[in-house]
Amino acid sequence: MSHLLELDNIVCRYGDQTAVDGLSLRVREGHLACLLGPSGCGKSTILRAIAGLEPIYQGSIKLDGRTLSTPTHSLAPEKRQLGMVFQDYALFPHMNVQQNICFGLKKHSRRDRQRISEELLATVGLEGLAQRYPHELSGGQQQRVALARALAVRPRLILMDEPFSNLDVDLRERLSLEVKQILAEQGITGILVTHDQSEAFAVSDMIAVLNAGKLQQWDTAFGLYHDPCNRFVADFIGKGVFLRGRLVTPDSVETELGIIQGDRAYDLPLNSTLDVLVRPDDILPDADSPLSGVVIHKAFKGSEIIYTLQLDTGSRLLSSFPSHHDHAMGERVHFRSDIQHLIAFPPKTD
Ligand code: ADP
Repeated sequence: MSHLLELDNIVCRYGDQTAVDGLSLRVREGHLACLLGPSGCGKSTILRAIAGLEPIYQGSIKLDGRTLSTPTHSLAPEKRQLGMVFQDYALFPHMNVQQNICFGLKKHSRRDRQRISEELLATVGLEGLAQRYPHELSGGQQQRVALARALAVRPRLILMDEPFSNLDVDLRERLSLEVKQILAEQGITGILVTHDQSEAFAVSDMIAVLNAGKLQQWDTAFGLYHDPCNRFVADFIGKGVFLRGRLVTPDSVETELGIIQGDRAYDLPLNSTLDVLVRPDDILPDADSPLSGVVIHKAFKGSEIIYTLQLDTGSRLLSSFPSHHDHAMGERVHFRSDIQHLIAFPPKTD
């Protein structure tokens, strides 16, 4: 598989504020890649730069080897072979569904436009609604029309900016998985902007975690969760706590849960203080274990319960127990740790 989209060291600015700071990414053809990060980290700016709606001050953007943007040259948005789907659907209110879908197909005959619109309505599950107007559709249906409109021009790449965030949770999940399937069937590469990590985890082949305009990690969901490359990613992705420890060999740290063995060496002096990431799924119920803590918070999740356990040392842990392990607030619970990967960072200095 080749790389369809290449961002090479791009910088975007608003006045003297740098919104995207030296970003490099390569997205494989047919993949759905996600830009994930807190509000203001530069996700929309990156998407707009790829679309040709923002200039870049440094670097280059290429699609299938063809240069789209450099600081001195920018191909017009409509010549980039891109489709876009926005958060607010952005349908034309005075046009019916078929006219909306066919908006970019001015050179096609009427017959072709009708055929394409019918095919796309079937693809997005809206057969029979061609004559409706946007105000006669639900939010989910409007977003399906927006997707059909983006697909109508047969783009190489589709850009989606928080497309599901106005929808309720159930619909959001269903539609995001459907969109992934539609793109896969049509062989279209996608970039999805979201601040919702469960959405990113559910649909992405690769995820770029961003903070303050800088790429933190470009990885699969599994890699981000189990092997975060820095403290920001470890904090931002998934749940977990940091437990103080001491480096006892180059690849093991002693904590109050015992010695945790890793599979890589830390290039730090022995006895250095480190914070070890402990995920809820690292802490398992075990009535025979000497380790215990008192339940100070519980969150029922259906198949699991996330307990916050306070240890006698004062440290707190999150634990994910199968939900038939029903413990009361204040109850002492025994557990063992099953930390498969040692992830540790020097303590925060601030
Ligand atoms: P995100 O999509 O991750 O929320 P944005 O790309 O919208 O982030 O914004 C990145 C940074 O650029 C933010 O600090 C934001 O305030 C700033 N910014 C975005 N758009 C503009 C604009 N049109 N003018 C000035 N600053 C902007």
